[in-house]
Parts: sequence; structure tokens; C-alpha cells
Amino acid sequence: MFASCLKPLVLALFFALESARAAAPCTDFAARLPNLRRDLCESARLQPTAVRSVKGRTLWVSDVKPEQATLRVLVVGAIHGDELSSAAVAFHWIRLAKQMPAVSARQIHWRFVPVLNPDGVFNRSPRRVNAHGVDLNRNFMTPNWERDAKLYWEKGTHKDPRRWPGPKPLSEPESRFLHDEMRAFKPHLIVSIHAPYGVLDFDGPVVPPSRLGSLYLHQLGIFPGSLGNYGGVQGGVPVVTIELPNAMRTPRDAETRQMWLDLLGWIDTRLPARRNVAIAPHAYLDSKLLPASPTAE
Ligand SMILES: [Zn+2]
Repeated sequence: MFASCLKPLVLALFFALESARAAAPCTDFAARLPNLRRDLCESARLQPTAVRSVKGRTLWVSDVKPEQATLRVLVVGAIHGDELSSAAVAFHWIRLAKQMPAVSARQIHWRFVPVLNPDGVFNRSPRRVNAHGVDLNRNFMTPNWERDAKLYWEKGTHKDPRRWPGPKPLSEPESRFLHDEMRAFKPHLIVSIHAPYGVLDFDGPVVPPSRLGSLYLHQLGIFPGSLGNYGGVQGGVPVVTIELPNAMRTPRDAETRQMWLDLLGWIDTRLPARRNVAIAPHAYLDSKLLPASPTAE
């Protein structure tokens, strides 16, 4: 009798704690990110990971997984903390993935990391780099990183502090987190959302999408330590890099939806089933977090 009276109370407490936990980051995200209402953020049902940013902020993920999923896609927003629209678009895509699981012919397990660089996003004035001043998108371990990343930073960017690659590959908790996610989740495709160049970039072994919404393919080349270089060129996992046209404002919702639909259409036609078995060397799966040894070139 006593136990049966307690049961509803325990359940109510459980659900209150669950919803409080789900709501926890959304007050901050909705206040900072453009075109992100709190209820949209909460509907993503973000899950905390054990990983913290340099300043101790939780890194959150959201999984959308149909039962028969055969393909894994990792979507990353706000590697650069001053590209606020990129995180907001990731949240809108989480909602679309939940609402329209059957649009694609392929059943896709989506893993979203909408805000990889929370310290940059929540800096008093949002900034590209993390709290150590590192450009996370130059911090991945590509061949000859020790030489080339430094050289590129000095000669190619004239020591632009917004593009410092860091003291060594994977020196940062945020880049290590993404590296570990890639090892554990084994994505068939990575989508990295940026701004504000208004183009589509691509690295990897398959035919790239020619456009997503109003963004057209314009391959920008590869950079030492970038995610595209690391995942797409070295790892053999296609990396679609989206450069939204504005860092502080999202595209209209119809455009965000069209980009999503075009991405699904490209996945259906161009991303071969089981391609990771046939093609990808998955260099990062075998790595020991060390840079590749230098070559003669
Ligand atoms: Zn960027």
C-alpha cells in the first residue's frame, strides 16, 4: 500500500528531474543562438557527455536513431564559436530528423554535436577559438602537422591569432572529444557546419553534392589540421563542410529545410551502402593520437 502510494511520486520526481536536465542547457543556448527558441532546443533532448570544455562547460549530443538504421551521420556545429548560426541550424536539423525520419530511402542514425566549442560561443563576445586560443579546426592530426600547421599559420595567416592551430594535435578537450566520437561512432559521413562564406566544401572519396539549398560546391582546398583534411582525406570518411552565408543570422527556415532535403537526396544517390568497408582506411581508427611521421616531400 505504502509502496504503491510512493510509485507515482517517484515517477513524478523522475520525470521532473529528466525534464530539468533536458532543459538545463537550453536557457543559455536559446539566449545566445539566433533563431533558436527554447522549446526547439528542448525538443532536441540533448544528452550530456562526460566531456567538458576548457572552461568546464558540458559538451552535449543528440541522437536520432530509427530502429533499422544502416548509416551513421555525425553533424557538428560551432567548431568555431563566433559562427552562431551554425549551431542554430544543427538544432533545426535535429527537429527535421525527428519529424521526417522516412524522407530518406536510407535509415540514418544521426548524431548531432550542435555546439562543439561552447567556450567560444559563450565568450562575452563570441570568438572563433576555444578558451586556450586554439582554432579547433586546425587541431586535428593530419600528416606532418608539427611542421605544416605551424608553417601555414606563420606564412599563410601571418600568425592570425584566430587561426592558431595549438601546441600539438588534439591538444584540446573539444577536438579530442570529436576525435573520440569519430572512433566510437564510426560515421559514414560527417557534416560540419560553419559560416559565413556562403559555399559548400567537400573532402573525401565520393562524388560531392553540387549544391545544398542555395549553397553551391566550391572546394576551398585542404588545411593542415582541419576536420575535412583529417576525416575526409586521411580517414576516407566524406566530410561535407557547409559555409552558411551569415554567422549571426540563420537562413530562412525554408532554406534550412531545403539544405536538409538536398543532403538526404545526395546521401541516397551518392553515398554507397557499406562504403566504409570497401574504401575507408579509417586511418584515425588505428591512430595512437600521434602525428604521422614526416615524408620526403
Ligand atoms: Zn568556421
